[in-house]
Amino acid sequence: MLIKDISLENKKFAVVKSNIFLQLCSHHAQIQFHTLKMGIFNFFTQEIAIDLGTANTLIIHNDEVVVNEPSIVALDRNNPKNLLAVGKKALMMHEKTHESIRTVRPLRDGVIADFNAAELMIRELIKQVYPKKPLFAPSWRMMVCIPSSITEVEKRAVRDSCEQAGAKEVYLIHEPMAAALGIGIDVEEPVGNMIIDIGGGTTGITVIALAGIVCDQSIRIAGDEFTADIMEALRRYHSLLIGERTAEQIKIQVGAAMKDLDSPPDDIPVNGRDLVTGIPKQVMVSYQEIAEALDKSIFKIEEAILKALETTPPELAADIYRRGLYITGGGALLRGLDKRLAAKIKLPVHVADDPLKSVVRGTGIALKNYDRFPFVMR
Ligand code: ADP
Ligand code: MG
Repeated sequence: MLIKDISLENKKFAVVKSNIFLQLCSHHAQIQFHTLKMGIFNFFTQEIAIDLGTANTLIIHNDEVVVNEPSIVALDRNNPKNLLAVGKKALMMHEKTHESIRTVRPLRDGVIADFNAAELMIRELIKQVYPKKPLFAPSWRMMVCIPSSITEVEKRAVRDSCEQAGAKEVYLIHEPMAAALGIGIDVEEPVGNMIIDIGGGTTGITVIALAGIVCDQSIRIAGDEFTADIMEALRRYHSLLIGERTAEQIKIQVGAAMKDLDSPPDDIPVNGRDLVTGIPKQVMVSYQEIAEALDKSIFKIEEAILKALETTPPELAADIYRRGLYITGGGALLRGLDKRLAAKIKLPVHVADDPLKSVVRGTGIALKNYDRFPFVMR
């Protein structure tokens, strides 16, 4: 009887144990199924962050910058829907085109200047994220950074282009917000921060606090204007005609905001066409000459910053006074610009690390928090 009891107890125990085991199994299976589902979900939903800049378009996918191309396309003049090249390839063709090819910078002045070209560019660059066509086309979640001056119609155009390129969900973020996130500023704090983004077409001067844009100004003096200043200076002082690309190279190699740099770059040879004789010639150019050429444009940026500081609410101005300002965008790489601004504005000036990538990095951060950040536009 006793033995029977024990065996009965054992059986009961075994049943209970097997129940627990089954439960455990089913729980485990559930977790596995969930991860599988998540895996499949991730497999089908890919996330990308896009910085649609006037000069450069960058795309982040899986925390890596996978596309970094100048924002330019080459189109067939007879059929503008026919895209011949995009990015670096199109830039190589720039100013060297003939009757049947036209190069276009779709976002020239911080607005979409050419809708058709912008759409073709966005679609083509997104395609580059997946060079090989995957078996199952993933559904994309995209976060696109747009200039804050962009109109509703232009926003619609950006969304449409992304949807055309396969996006199921498109979120937008304003450029200064993305820049601030990319610089590493805690944008949600009740503290004012001033961000100056010197891009290709425009310089944006923005004060951010409590996850919102408090004041935002933009002037059309930035990289392109610097390049034009250099072309003009070479024409005037050396009677040398040069193209936009050569002028941009000069800006990158010996561009400066001050005539007395601590570690000055060497003079560089510049080739172009003599204005008088019409024959190709070479001249040597120093950074001081370029600093002189850029002086007026940089002065206009300084004036705009001072004006922005005047219109900043006093409590936020006090924060900016304590923290200083942040400069980013390609223009922030101009030699001595931080020192020059600091001397003029009498505040500390911080240059973002890798300023050409702040915005895309910030856009990537916003993408990861797309359902949390209030400033993400859906
Ligand atoms: P956008 O956001 O408008 O696309 P970017 O922030 O990418 O602009 O900056 C592009 C601009 O920065 C271009 O005008 C380019 O010539 C300029 N730039 C890039 N590198 C340098 C450099 N080292 N010195 C000065 N200007 C630079
Ligand atoms: Mg930019």
